[in-house]
Amino acid sequence: MNDLVRIPLPLPHIGHVNTWLLRGDPVALIDTGPYADDALEALEAGLAREGLRIDDIELVLATHHHLDHTGLTATIAERSGARVAMLGRVADYGARYEARIDADRRFSVNLMRHHGVPDQVIADNEGFWDFIRRTSAPFETDVRLGDGDTIRAGGRDLRLVARPGHSTTDTLFVDDAARVAFVGDHLLAGISSNTEIVPAAEPDGTRPRARVEYLSSLRRTAAMPLDRLLTGHGDPVTDHAGLIESRFGDHDRRCERIVAALEHGPASAYAIAGHLWPERTVREQAVLVVWEVLGHLDLLLDAGVVSEHVHDDGSRYGVADFALRNSNHPGGGRPARTSRHSHAGAQR
Ligand SMILES: [Zn+2]
Repeated sequence: MNDLVRIPLPLPHIGHVNTWLLRGDPVALIDTGPYADDALEALEAGLAREGLRIDDIELVLATHHHLDHTGLTATIAERSGARVAMLGRVADYGARYEARIDADRRFSVNLMRHHGVPDQVIADNEGFWDFIRRTSAPFETDVRLGDGDTIRAGGRDLRLVARPGHSTTDTLFVDDAARVAFVGDHLLAGISSNTEIVPAAEPDGTRPRARVEYLSSLRRTAAMPLDRLLTGHGDPVTDHAGLIESRFGDHDRRCERIVAALEHGPASAYAIAGHLWPERTVREQAVLVVWEVLGHLDLLLDAGVVSEHVHDDGSRYGVADFALRNSNHPGGGRPARTSRHSHAGAQR
């Protein structure tokens, strides 16, 4: 009998999210799927295949606060009496989930305006937040854990490692003895992880540099002695150092394409996105493409390749344009439209 079982749960827009069942003492689940009837049914069916019921779960852990990883936490805890143990940051999110989502949404609206997204597109993207509200649920945490703590789950000692970037709460659960780690969305085999830009825990007036933080998190993970990374979506990762190396290559190439877009003149992050993805993707996934472009612009700002200028357009925060340093284009102009040369959709 396998003591480690992957139970994929249905997840709209993406396909599936992995719940990991750890048999042994105590019986534990890592990540719980979205707050939705079909996800709960799939979880019950997956547990039944192992001869278990939700009532048998003794411990619930989550790799980060996202709805598809915590949505059923409260439901499972209520039905089973399971202890809920989370990194403090995840616990904080769970305690005030609705208020936190709303704060993220308000921040996002200002962020998108500031980076050139038209008001109508912002309004049309409300569905993104509706989906999050509908499929998430607040939860209480019994045991608040910190970076470096160890917790017993499924007969294993799991060490917590905070690796922010994809979200502000990303946590690895590392079984050092077995050289296995549960990594959530920190690193995925099939797609590169996105990095959300949400209000910083302690606002200091600057934009959270999620992508810069993410790359430094990835570098530290690459150096860890692991054989298998069990992920939040899709298959496990077996050569994590090699995959992280190739992800760094992806970042370099995307940065090069942003530089190429800026050769037409200064542009907002949203206008740059129009050079990278088909128009429909940019419009319908405005939040995600702005996070993606801004994340790479932060890398280019750090490298001294681009500069950022804020123009007063009468709005509260103004509008930001990015320009190549040492380019011949005067700042402030809008770029000419050029062909859109990518078919790559923005990933969630
Ligand atoms: Zn996630």
